[in-house]
Amino acid sequence: MANETQMVTMEKIISLCKRRGFIFPGSEIYGGLANSWDYGPLGAQLRKNIKDSWWNFFVQSRADMFGLDAAILMNPKVWKASGHVDTFEDPLVDCKNCQSRFRADHIDEEWKTVDFRTQACPNCEKKTLTQPRQFNLMFQTAIGPVQDTGNTVYLRPETAQGIFVNFKNVMQTMRPKLPFGIGQIGKAFRNEITPGNFTFRTLEFEQMEIEYFVRPQEWEQQFEMWLSQMHAWGKQIGLDANKVHDNNIAPEELSHYSKRTVDVEFDYPFGRKELWGLAYRTDYDLKQHQEHSGEDLQFVDQATQEKFIPHVIEPSIGVDRTLLALLLSVYTEESAPTAAGESDTRVVLKFPPHIAPYTVAVLPLSKKPELQTVAEPLFHELRKYWNTEYDETQSIGKRYRRQDEIGTPFCVTVDFDSLTDNAVTVRDRDTMKQERIPISQLINYFRDRLSF
Ligand code: ATP
Repeated sequence: MANETQMVTMEKIISLCKRRGFIFPGSEIYGGLANSWDYGPLGAQLRKNIKDSWWNFFVQSRADMFGLDAAILMNPKVWKASGHVDTFEDPLVDCKNCQSRFRADHIDEEWKTVDFRTQACPNCEKKTLTQPRQFNLMFQTAIGPVQDTGNTVYLRPETAQGIFVNFKNVMQTMRPKLPFGIGQIGKAFRNEITPGNFTFRTLEFEQMEIEYFVRPQEWEQQFEMWLSQMHAWGKQIGLDANKVHDNNIAPEELSHYSKRTVDVEFDYPFGRKELWGLAYRTDYDLKQHQEHSGEDLQFVDQATQEKFIPHVIEPSIGVDRTLLALLLSVYTEESAPTAAGESDTRVVLKFPPHIAPYTVAVLPLSKKPELQTVAEPLFHELRKYWNTEYDETQSIGKRYRRQDEIGTPFCVTVDFDSLTDNAVTVRDRDTMKQERIPISQLINYFRDRLSF
């Protein structure tokens, strides 16, 4: 019986991600760019599987949901109306000695009442900190060749506003009944001064957000529904439910637009921190946009002709934090003795099969051409159904270990017996059990095992 150990650390995850092609440091050949990361072949597929799963679960499988894909650059009036130009700020303190910059709330939770001039700098320990100054998190750029304040635009700091400004368009084209929601997946940008912890806090990240429009009197019930749906999806993609916790934000800590917020938090190796957010935003955003744009953004009930601005529940999920929490959830080390009886440790990423970057790996036992004549057509056949990898390098033991480390649920080994018995060996990632399966039955065998 494999002996599981729980020793996941950030170092192990970061090193596995680099070694196996999940996540590389951004712009690496130029010495990198602080806090930017690039997703490699395995990471890109894993991201896609997470996003597809989110879309299927929250949009495609629900009759009350619509999709959207709004532009990243928007009219700057959007950000004035949403409050981001005036209030999307972090309090920062500078060290006059070592030039380091910190978020005041990260140094001391009571930052509003603290005199930082008497506090030691967390970096150089000199008492040379400034008092906090507010710093806007939105990245600015300019449209056209001349840079002046008239053509400043912002890289969106959240995808949500793209949904609010299209609320009327969606209402008019889709004619939905309340409650209904709009979901979208897209990049967001924040000029975070204290990014870090790998992909936990980056300047550029991706969000999967829903604005769910409800009648004001039903918000509490819908809020609970979304909270349970978020947890259900987390379980479905393989997040460790023991590490996921709800943090009800205290009324005095709520954003100006929110009447209730739950931060869904995760036990990362660097502490319990936000994974996702769920907020009841009242009718704040639509009201603001109605006022600033002059457009009527009321919902009209076709049956009663009642007109009102709907209230909003917002489940907001970061792709990158989800991917990190998932890696931390599925990372497993097991003692697995070698064939020679020596003790060894095997690292396994126990992704649910529909989330794993590759579902199947085809491994011919050697590079002999006669094995290729069986293995290659099999590989091309399996790829029609599942993400499949072909690997004929190294010893079979090393190839199994590699597939365990990238979380491939099934390995198919083609050996010399396959040439006569038309069967292959299927190895299960988690149990390491091997079964001989006739090639003609392989697709059906996987269909049964992968039915989801
Ligand atoms: P934090 O308190 O950690 O800064 P936030 O409360 O500002 O996060 P939201 O504005 O609620 O975050 O954004 C929704 C989701 O987007 C977060 O729950 C998280 O998953 C993701 N997210 C936000 N900022 C970042 C970032 N800088 N890097 C990666 N993901 C992020």
